[in-house]
Amino acid sequence: MREMEAKRSGMYSYLMVIFSIIILAWAVWAMYNAFNFQQQGNTENFYFYAAASSIAIVLAVSSIMQMRRRMLLLQSLAVKVLSVILCANCSFKVVRAFTQGDFVYKEVGNCQQCKGTMRIDSIYAEEPPKKSRP
Ligand SMILES: [Zn+2]
Repeated sequence: MREMEAKRSGMYSYLMVIFSIIILAWAVWAMYNAFNFQQQGNTENFYFYAAASSIAIVLAVSSIMQMRRRMLLLQSLAVKVLSVILCANCSFKVVRAFTQGDFVYKEVGNCQQCKGTMRIDSIYAEEPPKKSRP
């Protein structure tokens, strides 16, 4: 369920990126037009394009902000829960993704090395990947 949601959010963010880029590109074009009209002394067209480009910039910025929120949500969804499985006999350790029904001290089969009983030693959530900022 969570994975589906993450995938849908990812798709949505991707579309938002394209949408914002198109709007930003259009805003730059409109601003360039506004500048040209100003040079020509065509104030009517200058005001039209200046207003249009400011609206487009506001739209693009607000969708980028929304995208940022989505990204943060995605990051929190990406938290991995891990189960550490330990052999009581030889301390052979296996770390795997948490699966439903896992609990600490649950027996989960035999050790690959000594055929001893493997038990879940601990369950923990991994930190979400932190974005490094330049
Ligand atoms: Zn073992």
